[in-house]
Amino acid sequence: MLGFDPVRRSWVTDALASGPLHRIPPLDGVLVTDDASLQEAADDYGHIVHRRPRAVLRPGSVEDIVKIVRFARRNCLKVAMRGQGHSNYGQAQAFAGIVIDSRTLDTIHHIGSDRATVDAGVTWRKVIEEGAAAGVTPPVLTDYQDLSVGGTLSVGGLGGATQHHGLQVDNVLELTVVTGEGDLVTCSPRRRADLFEVVLAGLGQFAIIVRATIRMIPAPTQARVYNLYYDDIALYTSDQRRLLAEGRFGYLEGQVVPRASDTGWRFMIEAAAYFTPPSAPNDAALLAGLKDNASERVISDTTYVGWQFRIDPVTAFLKAIGVWFFPHPWYSVFVPASKANTYVGNILRTLTEADTGQGPILFYPIATSKIRQALYPLPNEPVAFAFNLLRTAPPNDPATLNAMVAHNRALYDQVVRVGGTRYSIGSIPFSRHDWQQHFRPRWGLLVSSKRRFDPDNVLTPGQAIFT
Ligand SMILES: Cc1cc2nc3c(=O)[nH]c(=O)nc-3n(C[C@H](O)[C@H](O)[C@H](O)COP(=O)(O)OP(=O)(O)OC[C@H]3O[C@@H](n4cnc5c(N)ncnc54)[C@H](O)[C@@H]3O)c2cc1C
Repeated sequence: MLGFDPVRRSWVTDALASGPLHRIPPLDGVLVTDDASLQEAADDYGHIVHRRPRAVLRPGSVEDIVKIVRFARRNCLKVAMRGQGHSNYGQAQAFAGIVIDSRTLDTIHHIGSDRATVDAGVTWRKVIEEGAAAGVTPPVLTDYQDLSVGGTLSVGGLGGATQHHGLQVDNVLELTVVTGEGDLVTCSPRRRADLFEVVLAGLGQFAIIVRATIRMIPAPTQARVYNLYYDDIALYTSDQRRLLAEGRFGYLEGQVVPRASDTGWRFMIEAAAYFTPPSAPNDAALLAGLKDNASERVISDTTYVGWQFRIDPVTAFLKAIGVWFFPHPWYSVFVPASKANTYVGNILRTLTEADTGQGPILFYPIATSKIRQALYPLPNEPVAFAFNLLRTAPPNDPATLNAMVAHNRALYDQVVRVGGTRYSIGSIPFSRHDWQQHFRPRWGLLVSSKRRFDPDNVLTPGQAIFT
């Protein structure tokens, strides 16, 4: 390809072709248009939305991203960065635009005692592995580590340590970004804070993250894991809130799980105490006063790194049987703690395992004060419960898939009525009006930042905020 014809809106391959030609700038990487690359970029973990780009950039340098954003802007083409493509509703896609595949930007530049500087395409798996070798770890990790640093910093990054350290975006010291105008900027809380503040959890709307300096803390070597079972939602949420308030565990999550011999649901606290021998957790103190079914407690030890990679066997199994590649219409929201029992209890009254395709249901508390990012709306209460239906739909069954997506929307309408918010991942059909309501009272910040940093609305159309 030589360039783009902005009138015919097509690539030009022949130097003698008539019509205007905007030449593709010389690149360190490659800009490709082969079918396999375009198909991959028109798909994601959700397999629900498919928007085909015109080209995929595999950048060889940060400068390639600057050049391609400027080129796209000049030619009225949309651009989206794609990390590991684990979105599930087209968020990293760019119809008839250019998708930048961040996987070629995967260098860890530095790991020190309190920070690491990494390219946006580096996966958290790699950060954990190299961090462990240096005795450090990111303070907050998601449940699954094959996600890119740029991908989770664009959405938030929630996990079992959020109770102590906030989201992954709350643990960033500096970013290097390419704005929608094609400017390469380094920003931090002290330098271009206006940009830094909106890029984190900014859903790719203002700039592409190309490099991040993230906080690191000393890594423990071991994790003791506690699975505690409850039949009653009120007892479960009350103990969860107690554990959150007291901060007894390094990791605190929980799930709604099917009953073994019955229809219906029960609840499981999943907590972990981190330690490095010779010190060891005090089980009696950690479990004191809890109202779980004590005879069912499961307590086990593993390594800290092994714990962060705990779902590897599950994902390997799901890949082996093909289910990993089925559609995933996920539902992900935060419910104010005061409404969690009724909201979740009402859903569970009629929900069956078929409704989630046997996908897990996450249900655990966070302290909203720990999350400081401007663009991460949360319920207006000190405690909120993350509630996630990690659904799998059967393949080639659009009726079931559509019903799951419609159910997500209906559940979302209900959660908003009780003061809940969505986590902006997952599959909830959303209009511009919905986004306005979602970000209120920060919608004005979003609009003014878009005008400043991406005035031609080049970036990340798949989020459907400014379309
Ligand atoms: C199995 C699984 C487990 C998960 N577990 C968790 C969890 O425990 N906690 C949690 O918080 N989330 C979790 N998620 C959700 C996940 O964090 C988000 O979907 C995340 O965006 C995926 O990262 P990615 O690299 O695949 O990003 P992509 O899906 O490639 O991109 C996500 C969005 O960010 C944009 N983007 C990507 N890279 C950049 C960049 N460098 N600069 C600017 N914008 C960019 C994209 O354009 C897109 O809009 C999970 C997802 C899956 C599939």
